[in-house]
Amino acid sequence: MDSYPPSVNELAESLSGSGLPHPVLVKEIRKAINEGDWENLETRIQRIKTMSLQTVINATGVLLHTNLGRAPWPYSSAGQAINLELDLNSGVRGSRQDHVGSLFATLCDAEAAMIVNNCSSAVLLVLSALASEKGVAISRSEMVEIGGNFRVPDVLELSGAYLVEVGTTNRTRREDYERAILANRDVGMVMKIHQSNYKIVGFTESVEIDELSDMGVPLVADIGSGLLDESCSWLEMAPPVWIAGEPAAKQALASGADLVTFSGDKLLGGPQAGIIAGDAELIAKCMKHPLARAVRPGGLILSSLQELALNYLNRDWEAIPFWKMAMTSIDELEDRVKKIGCGDPVSLESVPGGGTLPGVAIPSVGIQINEDISHDLRLGAGGSPPIIARVEEGSTFLDLRTVDPRCDEHVASALHELI
Ligand SMILES: *Cc1c(COP(=O)(O)O)cnc(C)c1O
Repeated sequence: MDSYPPSVNELAESLSGSGLPHPVLVKEIRKAINEGDWENLETRIQRIKTMSLQTVINATGVLLHTNLGRAPWPYSSAGQAINLELDLNSGVRGSRQDHVGSLFATLCDAEAAMIVNNCSSAVLLVLSALASEKGVAISRSEMVEIGGNFRVPDVLELSGAYLVEVGTTNRTRREDYERAILANRDVGMVMKIHQSNYKIVGFTESVEIDELSDMGVPLVADIGSGLLDESCSWLEMAPPVWIAGEPAAKQALASGADLVTFSGDKLLGGPQAGIIAGDAELIAKCMKHPLARAVRPGGLILSSLQELALNYLNRDWEAIPFWKMAMTSIDELEDRVKKIGCGDPVSLESVPGGGTLPGVAIPSVGIQINEDISHDLRLGAGGSPPIIARVEEGSTFLDLRTVDPRCDEHVASALHELI
């Protein structure tokens, strides 16, 4: 017969050095006893510890990895009070949106801008505040699902607006919008949604923003990825070739969109946030809507975005981790592979990821190990933080483009321990 379980107290005592807070430890011990699994407590505790949020090394070559929090960004906080809603000049209550909003307005060449929690909430707020109980004309080629249940028709329904479908899956023309607006007398908005994570190829036709700017209703462009300016004016070199064709906030507004919406943590390279920029009156309506309060960001995010906006405005692109990794030269990557000095150097292709730029490959360099060591890398071999690598046909690939150079030593020690 199996042994009786030891007492919870005894077990908690003997495992007190586990690093888990006492209540979490006791809860797990009770669960293990209930499941007759108390002999595996050490493994169970280890599993809980690996589940805690922690820094990891992204060696996947996916620049904006959805499972790794998209754009890497150095959140910082002084742990002190900030003037989030205090106007230091007048001493009265101010708006948390004003300053950071105006920095983003400058960056997009817009009248105004506001910040919310992510691009999904930006779209939901814009629809709720400006088109509730009205029709929103959207091309049938743009009924996007971004993933994680963000589906355009569902978000529309949630906002109280209704969908007016325009054109066909592969071909939509300006006349299609005109006809849809004539047939549905209360269309209150035209929305262009960027096909962020898919492409329609072959017999296709689509309508550009500038052809839709005079339809008599607000034109909103959900560009999603958050490229600010197609000329990448913050870089000292030419824009990377792989960014060509990606819609940018500044150009979308210049060609006639009344509002643009985009994410903070995709190509913008910042913390999770959503930005709405464009016409001041429309932004003011969004700010007044009750949902605005429900989707407003906190001080940590706004401070982070302020720092990011200043990096862009000062053209300090090397301070933005996304742009730094995107623009690292092949020579530099090859040098780093040599310094790590383990495994075989190999040419790789990185991808932007994060549901942006489908089909785009960015030439890169990395390390190939001829066995699958991904599990050990993930569990922190050689005292390194977890390293997330790619496995193909039994080999492990570490793409150095997405690895912060400050982590190269960890990569080296993990690899030296494992091979
Ligand atoms: C990514 C994306 C969204 C959703 O953005 P989140 O910041 O993830 O909420 C919405 N629309 C488009 C076009 C996108 O690409």
